[in-house]
Amino acid sequence: MKLVIMGMQGSGKGTQAKLIEKELGIKHISTGDILRIEAKKETGLGKQIASLINSGNMVPDDMIYSMIKDHLQDNFILDGFPRTLKQAEMLDRNFKIDKAIYLMISDDEAMRRMAGRKQCRSCRTIYGVDSEIRGSKCEKCEGELFVREDDKPAAIMRRIQLYKIETEPLLEHYREKGIFEAVDGERPVEIIFEDIRKLLKFEE
Ligand code: AMP
Repeated sequence: MKLVIMGMQGSGKGTQAKLIEKELGIKHISTGDILRIEAKKETGLGKQIASLINSGNMVPDDMIYSMIKDHLQDNFILDGFPRTLKQAEMLDRNFKIDKAIYLMISDDEAMRRMAGRKQCRSCRTIYGVDSEIRGSKCEKCEGELFVREDDKPAAIMRRIQLYKIETEPLLEHYREKGIFEAVDGERPVEIIFEDIRKLLKFEE
């Protein structure tokens, strides 16, 4: 099965994609994760990517596609890609996508979730705004928690702006293809996952 999961930053795409991988055996490909690994390298490319990500801007279409194309096989869920119409067209030229799942949340909720997010410097666990974490240490490994550069206010504004201009038109692209499925993303994680399982026809 070839899937795309879409939604504004903070909509829970990563969380749902991880569940889909774990429970349904569909490979999760996160372009944000791939880019963050690259951005940590002390290379020219790494530095270029880090500066784009940290300011909330996007990596060029050709660059991101060449970085993910080898990960794409017959079974995947893409999280964070496509983000522009050009990226969607690149994907369409090479693969037939079965479903595009859209996690719907309001702009206010997206902003609230992004601004309250913290990550562990050591094991990379993300603690959402509603997590019960106390203090500044990771519950799993005691690592230090920090706010990602791209979760700071100026970058958040830029990411939302780009989402509206570049990514939102893709909803129509997939609607026209008849593979678009919208899911209310402002409910508990497990309820959302049940809906996704049903629409993918993985009912028990
Ligand atoms: P994410 O964790 O998916 O929000 O991605 C973090 C950052 O990586 C984004 O704000 C962009 O700078 C970059 N990025 C991720 N996916 C893409 C993509 N498909 N096209 C361009 N830039 C991307």
